[in-house]
Amino acid sequence: MLSHLECTRCGEQYPADRAQSVCPKDAGVLYARYDLSSIKRSFSSARLAGRTPTMWRYDAVLPAADPVSLGEGFTPMLPSREYPNVFIKDEGLNPTGSFKARGLSACVTMARHFGLKKLAIPSAGNAAGALAAYAAAAGLEAHIFMPRDVPAANRIECDYYGAHVTLVDGLISDCARKVAELKKSPSWEKDGWFDVSTTKEPYRVEGKKTMGYEVAEQLGWRMPQGIIYPTGGGVGLLGMWKAFEEMQALGWIGPERPKMISVQAAGCAPVVKAWEEGKTSTEMWTNAATLASGLRVPKPYGDYLILEILKKSHGTAVSATDSEILEATRHWSKVEGIFAAPEGAACLVAYRKLRANGFFKPDDTVVLFNTGSGLKYLDVLDSSATRQAAQAKPAARQIGGIIGPY
Ligand SMILES: [Zn+2]
Repeated sequence: MLSHLECTRCGEQYPADRAQSVCPKDAGVLYARYDLSSIKRSFSSARLAGRTPTMWRYDAVLPAADPVSLGEGFTPMLPSREYPNVFIKDEGLNPTGSFKARGLSACVTMARHFGLKKLAIPSAGNAAGALAAYAAAAGLEAHIFMPRDVPAANRIECDYYGAHVTLVDGLISDCARKVAELKKSPSWEKDGWFDVSTTKEPYRVEGKKTMGYEVAEQLGWRMPQGIIYPTGGGVGLLGMWKAFEEMQALGWIGPERPKMISVQAAGCAPVVKAWEEGKTSTEMWTNAATLASGLRVPKPYGDYLILEILKKSHGTAVSATDSEILEATRHWSKVEGIFAAPEGAACLVAYRKLRANGFFKPDDTVVLFNTGSGLKYLDVLDSSATRQAAQAKPAARQIGGIIGPY
């Protein structure tokens, strides 16, 4: 039922029967569009019950191609042990231990469908591991460009999956430059290369949008009042918002929407800065530094879409310092039994701030996205720099040693 691709800037339509990157006219992000009125007639949400517990249960609203699946998606929606109306969507249980599995499962599915051979990705870490795994499963080549100081797990998993890894001195933006240089080589088209960077091909968003379908299905087709989402490239935010629009067109939900909240690390917060200044795009963040490696994205490519969603949903953007993130990582482990990725734990920091300032009321239902497993950050969480950051805030350290009244 995929009908065409549509530019999110100029609205131009492109055929969906071949591999496409961004809009040739204005470099806008392309979205996959479906014949939703036909799907509405032939498929109801009631038919989801009993379907495969992966993101491919929503194949009615995904491209019709043979899926490259490792069992991604349909992760648990865990009620918080600490806050009665908070749910933690635990994406750490995905294949490769992060939410990146969804986007790369859809992306590699379509790459194989279109006969592409060599998939190049600049990554802050977890997308690299996911691409490497799905490319291995599909029999395609993964070419990874990631910062030299990514968590060890990302380097090691890519190596074991048989990916071609280039470690770059710098950030994901420097890695993206490497991929851009590679594109100029004459063999790029001839040898079936393709750039699967965040939002530079249409299908990673399609995979990530299944998080929006799951939020609705797992809450009994009721929208929460808020969704807090750690925002690096922001694909999940884009995808969930797209899912809500599709679900409304399908008659699965009404016009209500959650407030969408971006949380970023204080050491790299281009979206928070742009939001606070009322801008419609971000500026390149200089000297980006945070132990939450997934949030070290100095300028997300889909920034204009992220900021539009925050505005349309009456959401906001919040930053968290590394010491706040570390304390929250420890707190969630002790209180919830969830050993979260630092990026995920940043949601707890944001939630506390938004409760303290009255943005959320105690009876608001809020979904916090833990985007990955803490097990992928063992070297980061155990390093001396991390211990120093934790010591920077004495109050946080004290909480770490006390068993709370939960
Ligand atoms: Zn365009």
